[in-house]
Amino acid sequence: MRKYIVAGNWKMNKNVIEAQQLMSQLLDYKKQNPSNCEVYIAPPALYLMMAKEIYENNEIGVFAQDMSEYESGAYTGEISVGMLESIDADGAIIAHSERRQYHGETDSHANRKVKALLDKGLTPIYCNGETLEQRKSGQHFEVVKNQTETALFTLSAEEIKKVIIAYEPVWAIGTGETASPEQAQEIHAHIRSLIAAKYGQEVADEISILYGGSVKPDNAKEIFSQPDIDGGLIGGAALKLEDFSKIIEAFN
Ligand code: PEP
Repeated sequence: MRKYIVAGNWKMNKNVIEAQQLMSQLLDYKKQNPSNCEVYIAPPALYLMMAKEIYENNEIGVFAQDMSEYESGAYTGEISVGMLESIDADGAIIAHSERRQYHGETDSHANRKVKALLDKGLTPIYCNGETLEQRKSGQHFEVVKNQTETALFTLSAEEIKKVIIAYEPVWAIGTGETASPEQAQEIHAHIRSLIAAKYGQEVADEISILYGGSVKPDNAKEIFSQPDIDGGLIGGAALKLEDFSKIIEAFN
């Protein structure tokens, strides 16, 4: 059975006091409201250790927003998978569209980062998705196919089962524009069918595929009700407990 997941990507938001407050509020909420999905957060790297201390019983999964493909050395500003492992982090988001856009991240980088995480037993949340231009010119199926194949298809069946995929159409991230549930579902089904063709249906059925792109309390239920959508990667709406908790409750 695949997992249902709501993951919050905090991006570059919140000072330390605000971060601690939201982490604690989320813990209190989670204790009082058992959810039907797993809940993860990806705070700025500076706050990962604090998150691990607050969630000492692993009530909430703690993910980095990115990490280096290298083990250690002269890579100023980077954090390594070994560092994440040493604080018992659960994994990292890989190839978020903002990393692609502002930092030149490609699917070849993503491939090495995903492998580095899996080798240490950590979980990658691998992001893909087309731009507005690519969608308008009808290339979205092809783009997502190429991304998925380059980033993931060197993995073994056992490895790929441990990857969480987040389909995030770039035109829907932080724009207030959401893919319709049908638009999202058809790409999720497409991704699952690519995996099934390469690794078999059983493997494909085990992989959680999240949708990301302006998920809000008022559209989460409809999006999550699609058969191939197993949860969401949430940006803006993860920054306030009021909104994030309603999205978690969309699984109830
Ligand atoms: C994201 O950054 O992964 C995201 C989906 O952002 P938002 O929910 O703000 O569109």
